[in-house]
Amino acid sequence: MNITNEIITGYIESLYVGTSPELEELRCFAEEKRVPIILKDTEGLLLSLLKIKKPERLLEIGAAIGYSSCCFANACGCNVTTIEADEKTYETAVNNIKNLGFDDKVNVLYGDARKVLEEMAATVDETGLYDVVFIDAAKSHYKAFWDLALPLCKNDALIICDNVLMKGMTASDEYDPNRKYKTSIRRMREFINYISNLGYADTCVLPVGDGVSISVIDKA
Ligand code: SAH
Ligand code: MG
Repeated sequence: MNITNEIITGYIESLYVGTSPELEELRCFAEEKRVPIILKDTEGLLLSLLKIKKPERLLEIGAAIGYSSCCFANACGCNVTTIEADEKTYETAVNNIKNLGFDDKVNVLYGDARKVLEEMAATVDETGLYDVVFIDAAKSHYKAFWDLALPLCKNDALIICDNVLMKGMTASDEYDPNRKYKTSIRRMREFINYISNLGYADTCVLPVGDGVSISVIDKA
């Protein structure tokens, strides 16, 4: 189910204007092949936030085929590091990013983000810290991604997470009548509780797309 009223979502989607014909083509390709890229309304929200925040460096967890990372680089000229665990998907992302001309801005790393982030943290210096982190990978590992990405964040970073409402299931068991997703629902609820009660972060959850959380970090 959509987490918002279908008529309203349909109306908002009808307003969508893609950022470039090439990116629109990649979006169509992803939708056709059922690659779970950011939804149109989520894209609108994120690009607005990036234009306000003006990040220099953005870290993405979950590249898929490179769609969102190219959109981010395109929106604000930021450097993007993105991580992808699936080898074939990683290769597709590398190719797409090159073909779209973003290979000077977007760097794709291959591997499980939990391992890659650990390696990054071991060698990072101040110039390697990120202004924005976008978490959009395996939902049951969001807490691990958060904890591992935090040391890579600047003091005033934004951490944005996609799909946190999980088609409504995070809000109510009613949306998972056969209890098929019981464990991932529990883990997502624990994660949302965790990030909502941290002293160093202010978090809000928005019913946009499949649910987006925005956390403003204040480590100072
Ligand atoms: N951000 C992309 C969509 C990402 S879909 C976009 O909007 O265009 C989620 C991706 O995360 C999938 O391609 C999946 O292979 C990858 N993924 C899942 N678990 C991961 C992990 N532990 N580390 C890195 N990537 C992971
Ligand atoms: Mg997503």
